[in-house]
Amino acid sequence: MSGPLPTAIHRLSAAGCDCGPDLHQEHGQRAVFCGLTSIVWLHRKIQDAFFLVVGSRTCAHLIQSAAGVMIFAEPRFATAVLQDRDLAGMADCNDELDRVVAQVIARRPEIRTLFLVSSCPSEVIKLDLGTAARRLGERYRGRVRVAAYSGSGIETTFTQGEDSCLKGLVNELPAATAAQRSLLIVGALPDIVEDQFQRLFDELGIGPVHFLPGRSSADLPAVGAGTRYLLAQPFLSDTARALDKRGARALDAPFPLGAEGTAAWLAAAAQAWDIPKARFDAVIAAPQARARRALAHHRERLSGKRISFLPDSQLELPLARFLHRECGMRLLEVGTPYLDRHTAAAELALLPTGVRVTEGQDLDRQLDRIRADRPDLTVCGLGIANPLEAEGLRTKWSIELTFTPIQGFDQAGDLAGLFTRPLDREQRLRF
Ligand code: SF4
Repeated sequence: MSGPLPTAIHRLSAAGCDCGPDLHQEHGQRAVFCGLTSIVWLHRKIQDAFFLVVGSRTCAHLIQSAAGVMIFAEPRFATAVLQDRDLAGMADCNDELDRVVAQVIARRPEIRTLFLVSSCPSEVIKLDLGTAARRLGERYRGRVRVAAYSGSGIETTFTQGEDSCLKGLVNELPAATAAQRSLLIVGALPDIVEDQFQRLFDELGIGPVHFLPGRSSADLPAVGAGTRYLLAQPFLSDTARALDKRGARALDAPFPLGAEGTAAWLAAAAQAWDIPKARFDAVIAAPQARARRALAHHRERLSGKRISFLPDSQLELPLARFLHRECGMRLLEVGTPYLDRHTAAAELALLPTGVRVTEGQDLDRQLDRIRADRPDLTVCGLGIANPLEAEGLRTKWSIELTFTPIQGFDQAGDLAGLFTRPLDREQRLRF
């Protein structure tokens, strides 16, 4: 590792090495959403779970506007708004929480798991939600499981809410013996994508396969030394470490974005199950060909276009790999909020030599680089997109990539389409 560069940037790749991406670290002002945002896709996935945010009015506004709730929709999330109190007043807070929980449980008989989600306001930090979850779990034993996790926005990114939630679930999974072999797919996937993957695993002869989280919070697969797991999302480092502690073993692979990424991700499981190559090739041939056909049209539009990523979702590395290798885009800079070198190893290996990869953020400096580079497209958070658009730069909201089905062969064309759309819009505006 070379010495620190001037300012807060640290170059991590070895000087003089002409292989792999050019890794940097940056420390400074950040602009990211908080982990409460992940409730939007988690509540859609776990269909018998309720997410009770314990937070402030700001938290309530964030979650309501992110989820776009209609007033008659009876959403499976809510915010218990805490007013500021001193520590002596915390007993009242617990009473208030118990009252709200009792109301939710009485009103929503279909709920099987209640997640208490903590946030970052100081009045919430004083409250021990883990203890509250244990107390309430005892009270409602046999009726509703109560768990707690953090969706706080302090030093986190919006996708880490899922990591925190799943890490807690891993600790509750029953134990499997070493002889109980299974594949665990880790990361919330839209049901349509889960079904497509399940069909492919069935055709390959790989199983039993479990998904975490499942559609029901009662789906808690056993885990142990016979478990092999594949991460479906790149932002689940804490969940992966919790699975490692339970004896499960990770299958190293790129993430299932695009035709190439999906094939490599499935191949990691096929290899672990000793599936003959001829059978693997035969099973993936048709969906892979469909994905390539769907991509061809977008490749024409995206090829040669220059793209930069501001750090936001932790999806940046696999997206950059997909857009470069399968759509022909030129990568100017790939920013990512955190870089877990273990889970990102397969992605880093597929990025072009010398491309700048920045871990962390110093917002002003990064915006300066964007203004100097003037990429054709910048992938960034919601709050930064409008100012960049006002400067004539085209943007793509990274949060959209977590709300849309993008994994797997059959979504490869749609994924590329998310990046062609802003460019097409610009062209339409010009003429
Ligand atoms: S958790 Fe923190 S960052 Fe997130 S909405 Fe609430 S106050 Fe804001």
